[in-house]
Amino acid sequence: MSEKIIELRNVSKTFKLGLFGSTVVQALSDVSFDVKKGEIVGLLGESGSGKSTISRIILKVYKPSSGQLLFRDKDITNIYSASFLKNYYKHVQGVFQDPYGSFNPRRTVLEPLFDVVNNYELTHDKVEAEGMIRQHLEMVGINYDEVLHKHSHELSGGQLQRISIARALLVKPDLIVADEPVSMVDASTRVDILNIFLDLKQKLGISILLIGHDLATMHYASDRILVLYKGQVVEEGPASILLDPLHPYTKMLSESTPS
Ligand code: ADP
Ligand code: MG
Repeated sequence: MSEKIIELRNVSKTFKLGLFGSTVVQALSDVSFDVKKGEIVGLLGESGSGKSTISRIILKVYKPSSGQLLFRDKDITNIYSASFLKNYYKHVQGVFQDPYGSFNPRRTVLEPLFDVVNNYELTHDKVEAEGMIRQHLEMVGINYDEVLHKHSHELSGGQLQRISIARALLVKPDLIVADEPVSMVDASTRVDILNIFLDLKQKLGISILLIGHDLATMHYASDRILVLYKGQVVEEGPASILLDPLHPYTKMLSESTPS
């Protein structure tokens, strides 16, 4: 049995909207699953099904309304201290949908990577920091010298997603929560990004929660899949389910609009 990196146990999440919280949105209902060491779990669902809410719960942006979040079998649901979070984000990192939105247009694209090196005190030596960043960019197929001094508008979405992945890798995380990482990347470079995730899994044993809605993409990269529908896990199984055009959930997902 492989070790569990992250686990959700009976997680529900409601949002109260409107004046006096009069409207209640049930984003997640009784969601349970885990991600084990070195596996890519594909989380699929139509727009509004609760995928990003799950990613934000794991990244501790949202707190579950009920249920538990466990990291390596430890209940961390109610732990939010700065010292805990700093350590937690050395283990759990996120990569998001919008490549341009992930970068401040006023800063160069490598500045956030230097921030990580400084904030996590990976080294205090400038030359060593450069070497570290150069090496992590190489892992995702980006040449340090080519992107140094560049701003996001000068690079493609695919290049920016690679840099975001390199940024996440600097801390040597156990888990990357990738919330629709290829949805806004053009189709021709999508597979390259997925191959990076597969590489990270195979060579470094990194676990990935890969969120998406495109069946081919999700089948290509996932070891197993979870299908979310209106905030509930309605299907869990091998990725091969996604190749069955008659399966009720593949039918639903291939007809649904992307989020
Ligand atoms: P997905 O990522 O699958 O498209 P989300 O997790 O973003 O779905 O959203 C699930 C549901 O929760 C939606 O109805 C959405 O409007 C609602 N929701 C998500 N975040 C918030 C929030 N911060 N405030 C209010 N409602 C939210
Ligand atoms: Mg989403």
